[in-house]
Amino acid sequence: MSRNKNLIQFNPDILTELSIEESHSKIRACIQCGECSAGCPSGNWTAMKTRKIMRQALVGLESVLSSNDIWLCSTCFNCYERCPRTIPVTEIILKLRNMAVREGHIPDPLKGVIKNLVQHGHAVPLGGELSTWAKLRIKMDLPPLPPTVHSYPEAMDELYTLINKIKFNGRIPYQL
Ligand code: SF4
Ligand code: SF4
Repeated sequence: MSRNKNLIQFNPDILTELSIEESHSKIRACIQCGECSAGCPSGNWTAMKTRKIMRQALVGLESVLSSNDIWLCSTCFNCYERCPRTIPVTEIILKLRNMAVREGHIPDPLKGVIKNLVQHGHAVPLGGELSTWAKLRIKMDLPPLPPTVHSYPEAMDELYTLINKIKFNGRIPYQL
């Protein structure tokens, strides 16, 4: 039977999984005061509302995992500092991201960043504007690129090991 996409879907596993970690289970004490939203720099510039994310997670709204909002958090921890119920809001958002990835919800721009990281050891590609810098560096008798991860095969090996350990293969299109 096909699922009606307009129906609101609830997933009790969201709260169950959050409750595994004692500190995360403090989300149950959220009084929806909005202090977290009021001090959120990301929320100042986007439609993301931290208070809303907490509410959605608390009631187990499935769409919180597919929403882009959880990816707009800059992990500044302002909300954590301001919450009168000492709820670790930032950590809960990070946990929601973990759940979202497991469910296959990864925003396309983020997939691109991860692909760059896996292919080059850099989240930002080493082409484009960098080629201008490369010419300048050569003029200054420097190697065209700074000696970062891509210059050290052993560091790339460690990166691949980490990615394999967290079973990221298959979720992100990349070539080793
Ligand atoms: S500040 Fe804390 S209690 Fe208030 S809405 Fe945010 S998470 Fe809930
Ligand atoms: S940690 Fe994230 S949700 Fe909390 S205030 Fe900073 S940007 Fe907003």
